[in-house]
Amino acid sequence: MPHLHDCLVIGAGPAGLVAATYLARFRRDIAVVDAGCSRAARIPKTHNAPGFPLGVSGPRLLQRLQEQAGTYGVGITRGRIDRLVREDDAGFRATDSDNREWRARTVILATGIVDRLPAMDGGEGACQAAIDAGVLRLCAVCDGYEARDERIGVLAPADEALEHALFLRTFSPRVDAIRSHAGEPRDDLRGKAAAAGVVLLPPLRRLSCDERACEVEFEDGSVRAYDTVYPVLGSDNQSQLALSLGAEVDGEGALRTDARQQTTVDGLYAIGDVVSALNQIAVAVGHAAIAATAVHNRLPRNPRRASRSRFDPESIDA
Ligand SMILES: Cc1cc2nc3c(=O)[nH]c(=O)nc-3n(C[C@H](O)[C@H](O)[C@H](O)COP(=O)(O)OP(=O)(O)OC[C@H]3O[C@@H](n4cnc5c(N)ncnc54)[C@H](O)[C@@H]3O)c2cc1C
Repeated sequence: MPHLHDCLVIGAGPAGLVAATYLARFRRDIAVVDAGCSRAARIPKTHNAPGFPLGVSGPRLLQRLQEQAGTYGVGITRGRIDRLVREDDAGFRATDSDNREWRARTVILATGIVDRLPAMDGGEGACQAAIDAGVLRLCAVCDGYEARDERIGVLAPADEALEHALFLRTFSPRVDAIRSHAGEPRDDLRGKAAAAGVVLLPPLRRLSCDERACEVEFEDGSVRAYDTVYPVLGSDNQSQLALSLGAEVDGEGALRTDARQQTTVDGLYAIGDVVSALNQIAVAVGHAAIAATAVHNRLPRNPRRASRSRFDPESIDA
């Protein structure tokens, strides 16, 4: 029978790592299992993560968060949990794809989302290279500011293309809406776009990017160059484990939680991008603080018996 932990944290992106740090500092017995595909690892440089005035790359931020958790003895097991079930009395039992098992009184799900990327010349490798170069961007809230005054194309179904293009007009006067496939937008959006000088272009035929720009070929044969393309093609919420336990999700598959980040399943908490909220690092770490504190407070108290005090150097750390 596997050991019963106070909490199992599934996912070690910014959300899971900060939750783990809080729980370890509450002196809780936790396990962290992570599949190693954090969205944050894709970030070339974020400029809105609190405390980094000159920006920080996603991999560096993850490394620092791991180091911080490690300071309190948190270890991260590499693995993908593919089964989560309730145990009558104890809490939950999780199994990974190698059949390893964890038992825990509570679970914090920090499994994030997976972006749907556009088909591009050069495939997935070229896509990541374009993200690294900042010519393909996935999050206007994150880095619209960095794309200011650039020639921007938003690639999405007609409605979303116009909505996101209108949002990006805050940053640049040159924003086009590129249809990802044939379809007409809502009339109200058409009017707003016209007023903002946003043009809705024909469906995309081909997308290619180098380190300086992206080239879009349209179905009518015309071609345009952009400093930045924002694909808005949706994402896949990694909420399957919670769904298998009956947790509620919103229309896009993101988990619904209460004010303490608990899902509709008792003892199962969710934080970060997998939750129905703004997908941002600052939000993810805020969720983490709330959930970890709620988990600590619902577990039986863990009073410290005797402590070494700086006023009493003879006392014994029990
Ligand atoms: C290109 C890009 C730029 C961005 N720029 C910014 C920015 O400038 N500012 C900002 O605030 N945000 C930015 N974001 C968003 C930010 O990356 C996310 O909001 C943040 O990473 C969410 O953290 P998370 O911990 O919820 O999820 P993630 O970081 O995605 O971590 C989830 C983790 O869970 C693991 N996992 C999933 N399923 C399982 C499973 N079944 N078992 C075990 N592990 C599992 C994954 O492998 C992953 O490691 C950007 C995102 C992208 C893609």
